[in-house]
Amino acid sequence: MRILVTGGAGFVGSHLIDRLMEAGHEVICLDNFYTGTKRNILKWIDHPYFEMIRHDITEPIRVEVDQIYHLACPASPVHYQYNAVKTVKTSVLGTLNMLGLAKRLKARFFLASTSEIYGDPHVHPQQEDYWGNVNPIGIRSCYDESKRLAETLSFDYHRQNGVDIRIARIFNTYGPRMLENDGRVVSNFIVQSLKGIPLTVYGDGSQTRSFCYVSDLVEGFIRLMNGDHTGPVNLGNPGEYTILQLAEKIQEMVNPEAKIKFEPLPQDDPKQRQPDITRAKTWLGWEPTIPLTEGLKLTIEDFKARMV
Ligand code: NAD
Ligand code: UDP
Repeated sequence: MRILVTGGAGFVGSHLIDRLMEAGHEVICLDNFYTGTKRNILKWIDHPYFEMIRHDITEPIRVEVDQIYHLACPASPVHYQYNAVKTVKTSVLGTLNMLGLAKRLKARFFLASTSEIYGDPHVHPQQEDYWGNVNPIGIRSCYDESKRLAETLSFDYHRQNGVDIRIARIFNTYGPRMLENDGRVVSNFIVQSLKGIPLTVYGDGSQTRSFCYVSDLVEGFIRLMNGDHTGPVNLGNPGEYTILQLAEKIQEMVNPEAKIKFEPLPQDDPKQRQPDITRAKTWLGWEPTIPLTEGLKLTIEDFKARMV
């Protein structure tokens, strides 16, 4: 198949491209390199089945493909808040453009949505039929509200134009190739402990997240894309940790000498988050296989190699 991956030079997108190329597909990677880098896809650059297009998805584009994995959008709060209006444009106009493309091509369209659409949840763990608790005017809204609208657009193109859609709601995912300055918690703690500077825990560290290793996530993507269910489907690892527990775990694994310091909790930071993955298990036969300690070990090795 010929497959388009938007955001393919980013963290998750580049791991997805590895899997698709290894399976023998033709892959077009579309990225504006906002948070992605050429280094992530370097090994495929000269491959005859691989094509890289530098393009901003807020502008329409014409390519011919059978499937579209739509991932382009900054995912770390630091990056999506840096230019909030641009984030909304990327998520809304970008998704609109990609759905228009899918409609013209009759291509199957996969949206990388997020657990953020549940906001600061009142239901725990989060099931797909929960509508969420999202602040429409806060500093996270440019991301979570525009991802909600991206889901709405996907379902409207599906109902109105028969576009064949798949929606994954991704929970916090980590692994090799996260940027050193990514700003998300796993990469921050690893970089800080490798540098021997204090690990910055926001708030008292009692808020929770559930961390999924990237190869597990990509397996879920491929099963969802090639299965019969539109979704939405939660993809994440139900293993839930407080942020303080995560800091202590990384401190212990990388540098027991590193200190932990507490900083103010950002506005609207969700207090708890854990996926209910019953749907993924029954519909896709999918569940995560890499425990946190093992995934962290692989991620730490990657950061060590890059930071020497
Ligand atoms: P990332 O920031 O590493 O990757 C995003 C990619 O999109 C980058 O390569 C960036 O350059 C590209 N991009 C951004 N704006 C663009 C634009 N206007 N035009 C073209 N390309 C653009 O983030 P990631 O962690 O790989 O996330 C990928 C997708 O998965 C995102 O849609 C994100 O919302 C979603 N997601 C990720 C997580 C996670 O924990 N990693 C959780 C929930 C959802
Ligand atoms: N966090 C933290 N220290 C950091 C970065 C993040 O304590 O250096 C916290 C953040 O406040 C949140 C959790 O870790 O409660 C996860 O943050 P991240 O930005 O990784 O993802 P998201 O909030 O989008 O789930």
